Amino acid sequence: MALGSMISHHGSTMRQTLKAFPKRHLLLVVGLVVVVFLLLIVLPSEPASAKRSETPLTIDALATLPNTLNNSLTHSIVSDIQDKTLSIPVHWKKITIKSGDTLSDIFSRQNLSANTLHALVSSSQEGRSLASILPEQSLEFALSEGELQQLRYVRTRLESLHFTRNGNLYEVEKVIRKPETRHNHVTGIITDSLFLSANRVGLPDKLTMELASIFGWDIDFALDIRANDSFNLTYEEKFLDGQSIGYGNILAAKFINRGETFQAVRYTDTEGHTDYYSPEGESLRKSFIRTPVDFTRISSGFNPDRKHPIFKTNRPHRAVDYAAPTGTPIKASGDGVIHFAGKQHGYGNVVYMNHPNNITTVYAHMRNIQTGIRKGTKVKQGQIIGYVGTTGYATGPHLHYEFRVNGVHRNPLKVKLPDAKPLPQSEIAPFNRITRVMLTELETRQNHTLLASKSGDDSDATR
Ligand SMILES: [Zn+2]
Repeated sequence: MALGSMISHHGSTMRQTLKAFPKRHLLLVVGLVVVVFLLLIVLPSEPASAKRSETPLTIDALATLPNTLNNSLTHSIVSDIQDKTLSIPVHWKKITIKSGDTLSDIFSRQNLSANTLHALVSSSQEGRSLASILPEQSLEFALSEGELQQLRYVRTRLESLHFTRNGNLYEVEKVIRKPETRHNHVTGIITDSLFLSANRVGLPDKLTMELASIFGWDIDFALDIRANDSFNLTYEEKFLDGQSIGYGNILAAKFINRGETFQAVRYTDTEGHTDYYSPEGESLRKSFIRTPVDFTRISSGFNPDRKHPIFKTNRPHRAVDYAAPTGTPIKASGDGVIHFAGKQHGYGNVVYMNHPNNITTVYAHMRNIQTGIRKGTKVKQGQIIGYVGTTGYATGPHLHYEFRVNGVHRNPLKVKLPDAKPLPQSEIAPFNRITRVMLTELETRQNHTLLASKSGDDSDATR
């Protein structure tokens, strides 16, 4: 290919795409594009070792409907695939990219000119992304009399770029496919652990973890679980072209623990915030997490009569000490505002946080305080505020954690934690609608499952 012809072709296609650029930048950009283009031709996408092959595939696409292109050079749609109809009959060829393939090799095997490749690559930002083709991605060529009418660059199962010819230019459309979501249902009875019992009825591990975290505010899954506890849930599974591509969220769940029933429904409010609620609209979360650190053991409990380990005098310990390795992250136990972050004599590096309802939490002996945590900083529950250490009067690495209500020290292990805010009144109607549907589905499908397992028995099933 003559460089001259490329440049002149280049000029004609670039004029429109680049008309928004200031003139003095144009030359630079044109130069860069030429360099990128030359690199594309020369460099393989991967070390050129594997041998190349192509898989021709004819797709039924002899569409003769009118061309519905609009005139903008680049536009995106987010929808399920909407094939851009081509005004002339074409035949399709699909190439799966192999390790070592270069774009120019692939194009020349299709008998497509370097000019065509160049027009595509320089068509837009998306066009330049053709430079980063990867093995296993695919290119689908719609050809008509040796001319490329459309190129589909399938980057992932869910995302592709469609380049459609319009005169000498290619217009690009980003096509995002939405997987189909189906509702699955599973019900099970605990015989050993939640994990094993859920596994036996086919609940994916990721969702078992999620189930435990949804009810984790009310049920301690390490200590409270008993044989014959049961669970029942509806969850999402995602499908593309009839094939499962992964799991979504738990939509509704019921857990019976030692005879007590807990229910949860997933709800996204009008502001887009998603949480799990009881059927009455109460958040299942508490406004405080019980333990702000993953600890190895409680090295000192709440004890108003304790002898201090260093001073050997009668010194009450109105806190819980959580032993944990130096550097373990310390999380804010609730939403709040930092009241103090710095050094204090016996506490070492310490953070005081103020929360609603006159609650203050204190985190002492930190190795260091997290960057950005200072007086006045707003902090969310679970946010890391520092790291376990031994600063101040400490005999080993631990977090000294205090929970004060109206200035009075309360036992962090025992204090009744306030619930997170319930849904506001304005959300109740839509919440009730969704909840009714979800809980009905949950009950109906549980009954189905139970009936099915009964009739599958050897014993005569009575219905
Ligand atoms: Zn302590």
